[in-house]
Amino acid sequence: MTSLQPVRGTRDLIGEEQRRHRQVIDTARHIASLYGFEEWSTPIFEETRVFSRTLGETSDVVTKEMYTFEDRGGDSITLRPENTASVCRALVSNGLTQSLPQKVFYAGPMFRYERPQKGRYRQFHQIGLELIGPAEPMADAEVIACGWHIQQALGIAGNVVLEINTLGDTPSRVAYRAALVAYFTAHESRLSEDSRHRLSRNPMRILDSKDEGDRRIVADAPTIAAHLTPEAATFYDTVRRHLTTLGIPFVENPRIVRGLDYYSHTAFEFVTTDLGAQGTVMGGGRYDGLIAEMGGPDTPAVGWAAGVERLAMLIAPPGAGPAPVAVIPVGDEAEAEAFRIAQTLRTAGIRTEMAYRGNLRRRMERANKIGARAAVIIGGEEAARGVAQVKNLVSGAQSEVALDALVAALQDPTA
Ligand code: ATP
Ligand code: MG
Repeated sequence: MTSLQPVRGTRDLIGEEQRRHRQVIDTARHIASLYGFEEWSTPIFEETRVFSRTLGETSDVVTKEMYTFEDRGGDSITLRPENTASVCRALVSNGLTQSLPQKVFYAGPMFRYERPQKGRYRQFHQIGLELIGPAEPMADAEVIACGWHIQQALGIAGNVVLEINTLGDTPSRVAYRAALVAYFTAHESRLSEDSRHRLSRNPMRILDSKDEGDRRIVADAPTIAAHLTPEAATFYDTVRRHLTTLGIPFVENPRIVRGLDYYSHTAFEFVTTDLGAQGTVMGGGRYDGLIAEMGGPDTPAVGWAAGVERLAMLIAPPGAGPAPVAVIPVGDEAEAEAFRIAQTLRTAGIRTEMAYRGNLRRRMERANKIGARAAVIIGGEEAARGVAQVKNLVSGAQSEVALDALVAALQDPTA
């Protein structure tokens, strides 16, 4: 058999990569809880309909990127490409549409069939928030503030820029859509095939095109500003005012439309120049129409999702945790006592490694190699007297300690 490799676009998380990944998720979970968000876990696969209708039939995700298959019972199943649709489905299926607001945090794997490259994988991970219920612009500012806070806590707020836009309300978008159709129709022959297709079905999506030729045409396209209703303009003003109140810096980018179809009003991205082409680390916005799409009542909501791998690449490498204590038996007769000591230390919350084999010198070498802060050395004679030698591997100091005083002697990780 040829050697087995992970599937293209998937990765094993080991050592520092796993520590970075965990740091991102633990930090996000903690900060989100400060804002009152509670974690939900939904299944990683859903009926295909959960995504196909709601994400928009012309979105890249639905047309090119979904892992969809028929299961053994003949049902069409899709590995979730994102989690907002699943959370809304869960809100409706669990009868929570009358228990608002719901403030949801999630973290987990997502699946998209994309061309793998740095920061772009087929199995990747997202953290995300959904604030379901409030229609007020303060909710938009609050979810952005939480996302900003998470990036501050990760030490990367200085590497990212918040870009915001409004997609207006429905009348604003209807007017804007007409302006876009007129503009892009005049340049139709130079648009990519994908964008010509979008022209009739969802012209706003052309603004999001990654095709170079499209981007040149998009550069001069009309923006939504002139088409906003007074209500939509006020909503956008209020979001910006709240962000300013909170001291969160932002720039306006009228090209942000977000990849999925269900957004209205606020759309935003946190972008960085440190990751090459994969520069968006967090993206989100308001999606007032989605829950009704799922068969629930009209329910306003706003949220974001962030790529864990992209955030993980930006943070400083987390440490591997506190240095352990190494317990080293000398001779077979002390082995049982040494094992018992290790268990006692661990029970007291002290990170402890057992040295399994070799003579005392080899075991001491191993203790140094794993970065142990102290060694507890115990032979048959010491075991009989109820004591052990404790050697501080940083200072080199050694002293005899009674077994029942070991925990106290080793509790302070700097002693
Ligand atoms: P992109 O423009 O990079 O394709 P997107 O608009 O498709 O991003 P969203 O659907 O908004 O991305 O997902 C939110 C975040 O999830 C992205 O900003 C990014 O950080 C991350 N993300 C999306 N797709 C991938 C992927 N294939 N691999 C790694 N991270 C991803
Ligand atoms: Mg994408």
